[in-house]
Amino acid sequence: MSETVSSAGDFINEIVRADNAAGTYSGRVQTRFPPEPNGYLHIGHAKAITVDFDTAANHGGVCNLRFDDTNPDTEDTEFVDSILGDIQWLGFQPNEIFYASDYFEQLYQWAEYLIGEGKAYVDDQDGETISAQRGGYGKPGIESPFRNRDAAENLDLFRRMRAGEFPDGSRVLRAKIDMNAENMQLRDPVLYRIRRGHHHRTHDAWVIYPTYDWAHGQSDAVEGVTHSLCTLEFVSHRPLYQWCLDQLPLLGDKPKQIEFARLELTCTVTSKRRLAKLVADGVVDGWDDPRMPTLSGLRKRGYPASAIRTFCRAMGVSKTNSRQAIEELEAYVRRDLNATAQRRMAVLRPLKVTITNWPAGQVEHFEVANNPENPDDGTRQVAFSGELWIEREDFALEPPPKFFRLSVGREVRLRGAYFITATEAITDESGEVVEVLATYDPQTRGGNAPDGRKVKSTMHWVSAPHAVEASVALYDRLFTAALPGEATGEPLDDLNPNSRELLTGCQMEAALTETVPGQVVQFERLGYFAPDPDKSMYFHRTVGLRDEWAAIQKRGGK
Ligand code: ATP
Ligand code: MG
Repeated sequence: MSETVSSAGDFINEIVRADNAAGTYSGRVQTRFPPEPNGYLHIGHAKAITVDFDTAANHGGVCNLRFDDTNPDTEDTEFVDSILGDIQWLGFQPNEIFYASDYFEQLYQWAEYLIGEGKAYVDDQDGETISAQRGGYGKPGIESPFRNRDAAENLDLFRRMRAGEFPDGSRVLRAKIDMNAENMQLRDPVLYRIRRGHHHRTHDAWVIYPTYDWAHGQSDAVEGVTHSLCTLEFVSHRPLYQWCLDQLPLLGDKPKQIEFARLELTCTVTSKRRLAKLVADGVVDGWDDPRMPTLSGLRKRGYPASAIRTFCRAMGVSKTNSRQAIEELEAYVRRDLNATAQRRMAVLRPLKVTITNWPAGQVEHFEVANNPENPDDGTRQVAFSGELWIEREDFALEPPPKFFRLSVGREVRLRGAYFITATEAITDESGEVVEVLATYDPQTRGGNAPDGRKVKSTMHWVSAPHAVEASVALYDRLFTAALPGEATGEPLDDLNPNSRELLTGCQMEAALTETVPGQVVQFERLGYFAPDPDKSMYFHRTVGLRDEWAAIQKRGGK
């Protein structure tokens, strides 16, 4: 696991500071977050959003949202809508919202201008031939036989491309730069393709579409972006980004591309293409499945937006790619929720306990703190009676060494209530325990014995007549390998077949019927849980209580 620069955002802030000191861009700072609406945003995008918005905010600038919608085949308004919602949920407010497709006419005009300057040509070869002619490192490229067409012929062909006279893929417009350039991106890159896709905004107005390289820098320039922040895979595109801007009669300052490392997590994939496949193959229930690293998935699972922001900021901005341990993100989520989540009692795998010396029909109410970390959260009443649910695993018929929870003859504390001692286990014909009989000590009300005697275990419980039934989804890693696909090259080979366990018939204290979507609660001793936004009494486990990240660090490494 490689290191990230700990001084968060510093190298980018340094560049911006230097530009401001030198008066470049007249002290103006404008950034943008440029998602392609071909999927849902994931945790990696949260990193980019944080960097883009924070950089602007740190220098009194603005950050816009620009949909990079230049590919009709994979883009859709469903994705536009989800991206808008996710950015807002994450806590950022774009200054303005733009669409690259709004610049199609301008980009087209600039392409005609480039042709007129003798710097672009129509190539009649197919994609395969063109890429075969590109050459490689230390291997010169081969010039297309169409490279030296004159401007008039190129212009005529390009206009006819636009008019729809040619079939898809039959011709492209290429920049005329240098087929021997060391940087492959400069070997006459494709600027326009013919593609009869239905575009989600321009519909069928166009049959030619600009490539990323022709659209991105110019879109930045049109909007007045000063610092165009993107991830490291675009380093090799930077000279082309610059070249495109340098050819055009642009007014105003030219934007500057700056790259930083992608955020990657262990046991996770953050590639929209791969995430889309998980959805399409039905491996998960959708883009917002709580096992997905998408923002909508994490939200449904109960990850607070504030924890995601804090995590992204704490990881800093680096110039080398690295992979963060997923346990580290979970530690941020846990820390956040520990401070904010109210405590409740819920029994996931219930076992009945009957208190034989409890006065028939008696019900008591205990006042318990909603969150010991935050007295402002107040208290609530929890009902107690002679019939209780406890966790099945908190009782052992034959307790193994070091098992200090309930067993026949053993006394334990029911949190905030009484000491009880199991007297008998009732089993069915298969030997499974179906009910435990116990006695309680009335002197221990509130959970302490006046004679000072100790018990080794405190357990959570729910009063059976007062309990509400619920379902709970427990989640494990979606991928078993730290680097999915490391062994075979195919991440799906490392899918965890047991990433979700669904429990029904869980028994919960009645206060849980009042949880609202977006509110995450701690089930005592079990972890943090988020109510499903649509299904009533259905909870997703956000994260367990154990800080695995602390344990990993203690062991001295990731
Ligand atoms: P994917 O590979 O998942 O399809 P992408 O880069 O194609 O991602 P875009 O919608 O083009 O997705 O990304 C929008 C912005 O988010 C880009 O500036 C991109 O660099 C950034 N981004 C994407 N993935 C990550 C990541 N894992 N970490 C940081 N930034 C990212
Ligand atoms: Mg992209």
